[in-house]
Amino acid sequence: MPPEETKQSLTQGADQTPDEDYRLLVENQTDLLVKIDPEGRFSFVSPSYCRAFGKSRDELLGRSFMPLVHEDDRAETAAAITKLSRPPHHTYVEQRALTVWGWRWLGWSDTAVLDAEGRVTAIIGVGRDVTERKAAEAALADATRRLELAVEGGDIGIYTGSISPPEVTVDARYLAKLGYGVGEIQVDLQSWRQMLHPDDRDRVLTLAEQVTNGDLDRFDAEYRMRHRDGHWVWIQDRSRVYERDADGKAMRVAGTHIDITRRKVAELKLEYLVDHDELTGLLNRRGVWQSIQRIHARGRRSGLACCLAILDLDHFKLVNDAYGHGVGDEVLKSVSETLRREVRQADWLGRWGGEEFVIALPETSEVQARNGLERIRESVSAQPIEVKGQQIRVTLSIGFATCQPEEKDPRDVLARADMALYHAKNSGRNRVCYDGHDSGVYAVSMAVLVQSALQTARILPAFQPIVELHDRRVVAEESLARIVAADGRVLAASSFIDIAEQLGLLHRIDSMLLSATAARLKTSKASGATPLLDFVHLSGDLVRHPDILQTLARELDRVSKAANGAPPLVLTLSERQITAETEQIARALAPLLDLGCKIAVSDYGGDASSFRFLIHLPVSFIQLDVNLIRLAGESARARSILAAIQHSAKDLGITTIAKQVEDEATLQRLVELGVDWGSGYLFGRPSEPS
Ligand code: GH3
Ligand code: MG
Ligand code: MG
Repeated sequence: MPPEETKQSLTQGADQTPDEDYRLLVENQTDLLVKIDPEGRFSFVSPSYCRAFGKSRDELLGRSFMPLVHEDDRAETAAAITKLSRPPHHTYVEQRALTVWGWRWLGWSDTAVLDAEGRVTAIIGVGRDVTERKAAEAALADATRRLELAVEGGDIGIYTGSISPPEVTVDARYLAKLGYGVGEIQVDLQSWRQMLHPDDRDRVLTLAEQVTNGDLDRFDAEYRMRHRDGHWVWIQDRSRVYERDADGKAMRVAGTHIDITRRKVAELKLEYLVDHDELTGLLNRRGVWQSIQRIHARGRRSGLACCLAILDLDHFKLVNDAYGHGVGDEVLKSVSETLRREVRQADWLGRWGGEEFVIALPETSEVQARNGLERIRESVSAQPIEVKGQQIRVTLSIGFATCQPEEKDPRDVLARADMALYHAKNSGRNRVCYDGHDSGVYAVSMAVLVQSALQTARILPAFQPIVELHDRRVVAEESLARIVAADGRVLAASSFIDIAEQLGLLHRIDSMLLSATAARLKTSKASGATPLLDFVHLSGDLVRHPDILQTLARELDRVSKAANGAPPLVLTLSERQITAETEQIARALAPLLDLGCKIAVSDYGGDASSFRFLIHLPVSFIQLDVNLIRLAGESARARSILAAIQHSAKDLGITTIAKQVEDEATLQRLVELGVDWGSGYLFGRPSEPS
């Protein structure tokens, strides 16, 4: 608004002719100057106005100014003009107008020129572009509205603090979270520290110090504060330093408090339940498994073996049958307590499932483990458990095995411990048995098991899917040998293959598996489904039995003739196991290859690899060595070797397959290397034996 004097002089000097100074002032003005007659027509326009609207003075003079104003702002402008006939004969109005720079906001200071009777004879307008200010105002109003909404809706408490002089101010929401009204407590640095949970205090104060010192830019922490009632409130505290001194030390901070108690409690419970068992409070299967992996990794570094034990309550079904499930649960809890008391501090104890427990004993020899486990077994069997006035006695059978530092997969150790447990059960229960690859008793019982499984055709294939890596489409499957024992227990190949080999029974296991797979092909063809390509392992032993291979070929021939196609069978050969001359292998496999069966070389790129099979046999698939793939994750040299294998495979028209793919990162790497297919837990576990 122009100062009072200007208004006066304009009113008085309205009819005088401007002198040279006035002319200069007006013509060099960046503000827009206009004179309007009482009908709203231009009687004077400054050069700046002409420039702004891209029109000449002649185009404008005598014309109404209103059409130049934005439609939505015309009413307000008209009202402002009307007001000019009344004192103080001055008004300010903001309106949009279409200038040569597009729509702009113009702020107009309008002053009326009056005649002797006080009638308006003209209006002098001074306009200024206020578009930027308008935009800034709108943004600020928007931000303020958003902030208010967030603070209110999010129930956010706000505090500000100054370091020196030390001073803290907090708002009502901050106080309400802790159960206080405004003015009921004084929050300062000292009282804030005292309200922190002792378990969080050090962490939070360290962080605060780092922020104050300038080592950290912002403070972001979740911690507990004591509520007026004494309970703990989880607070998410986020603050920022907005002023620092020359040394970078914080001077002023501002921050927010959000009550996250509900989320935090749910999170902690979930976190706990993810790896703990609800009934016994012990680690659950996932929890122990993670501990086992950690211990195994530690053993690899230290070079010290650890032991894994599986404990199973004897005849627990009887406890349930006799006393009911509820009592059974109480017994499980009581046994868990005993175990918890008896294990050493360094040991990891968990509930593996049902009435089975696992103990992982880090850096422990077989002898030490046996002593500890005997003590546990004894103490469980010695104390009767009292539930609802009943005295119940239970015993434990325990199997354990050593996990050597060079052991590849602790799952295999658990499988051996499980076998030892099986043996403990079979030899009378309430005892501790060691994994006995070296123990005669174990070997004999295993040999009996294998032989009886062969006689009763209880060697069955389990199928694991093989996928196209880039789109995870299932393209094939691998048949894996399983023994299904008389009591339904399923044994993986790793626990019986060595003994079967020692007994010279491997070829029979192979042929039983091949027959089962052929039979499956028959049923899948009968049902009209297109059977998947099936990878079946072929041991060196079978190569020495061409007669069996011929019989198998005849069997397959019948199946495939019925379906008018080659059997979708891939015979997997391992150089580690097959030492025979390639010519002999080719001769032995000829009947199957003639039918259209294909050959895969397994463990390629591993210790026993040469180019022998690739050169002399019609190989269609390469299964890459698991260790090489694992190494490729860490070593660029291994990656380069893998890439070279991939390159020559492509050249030879061979499909490459990666096994044991368990995570997305490995998958990503394999896809980048161009590996074609893969199997592993990421895509699917082996089915139950069928
Ligand atoms: P064995 O000596 O051969 O181990 O005999 P067992 O009766 O213990 O046989 P098995 O291991 O096959 O059966 C375990 C039983 O444990 C089956 C099931 O009824 C019972 N069980 C598993 N989990 C629970 C549980 O959480 N609570 C209760 N009460 N019983 C359970
Ligand atoms: Mg059991
Ligand atoms: Mg049991």
